[in-house]
Amino acid sequence: MNAEGSEVEVLFSSAEIERRNRELAVEIAGEMGRELLVVAILKGSFVFAADLIRAMHAAGVRPQIDFMTLSSYGTGTESSGSVTVQRDLRDEVEGREILLIDDILESGRTLAFAKRMLLDRGAKSVRLCILLDKPNQRVAEVEADYVGFVCPDEFVVGYGLDYAHYFRELPYIGILKQKPA
Ligand code: 5GP
Ligand code: MG
Repeated sequence: MNAEGSEVEVLFSSAEIERRNRELAVEIAGEMGRELLVVAILKGSFVFAADLIRAMHAAGVRPQIDFMTLSSYGTGTESSGSVTVQRDLRDEVEGREILLIDDILESGRTLAFAKRMLLDRGAKSVRLCILLDKPNQRVAEVEADYVGFVCPDEFVVGYGLDYAHYFRELPYIGILKQKPA
C-alpha cells in the first residue's frame, strides 16, 4: 500500500498538542525529580517524546533518555494481545526514577508489561506518561499518571502514530477515515 487516496481528519492540531505538552511538562516538573530517566517506547512515541523532553527542559527538568522497542500490534489495526521486547534499553535502571512514555494506552498490556519489567530490574519508581488514552478497551490493570488527551475509539494516525508504517510524519493527530488501497 501507499498513503495516496487516504483521508485523515484532524482530531488534535499541532497547536493543541504543543499547548498540552507544555502543561504536561509543568506537571511532571512539579512532581518528579530533575534527574529522571525518560524511557520512550518506539516507534509510536518518538515524536511525542522528542517534543515533551524539550518542554520539560523549559520547565526545569534535566532528563536522560533511553528507548525500548516493544511490539504488540502487527502492521494492521488489531491487537495481537502479546508483548515482546524487540530492542532493549541500554541504560541501567536500578535505583532510577523513570518516566515511561508511550503513544496510546488502550488494553494496557504494553504498558503493564513495560512497567513491571522496569520495576523488576530495580527501578525506584515508574510513572507513565501517554499521549492518548483510550479508556474503554482496558484489559490490564494500569493507569497513566500523565495523559495528553482522551481519545475516541477511532483509529488515529500522525504525530508518530502509523497505519502500516505510513503517516508518522503528520504534525497533527488525525482519524484515519478511509484506509489506503
Ligand atoms: P495496548 O495498550 O492495547 O497494549 O497497546 C496500545 C498500542 O496499540 C499503542 O501503543 C499503539 O501502538 C496501538 N494502537 C492502539 N490504538 C491505536 C490507534 O488508534 N492508532 C495507532 N496508530 N495505533 C494504535
Ligand atoms: Mg505502541
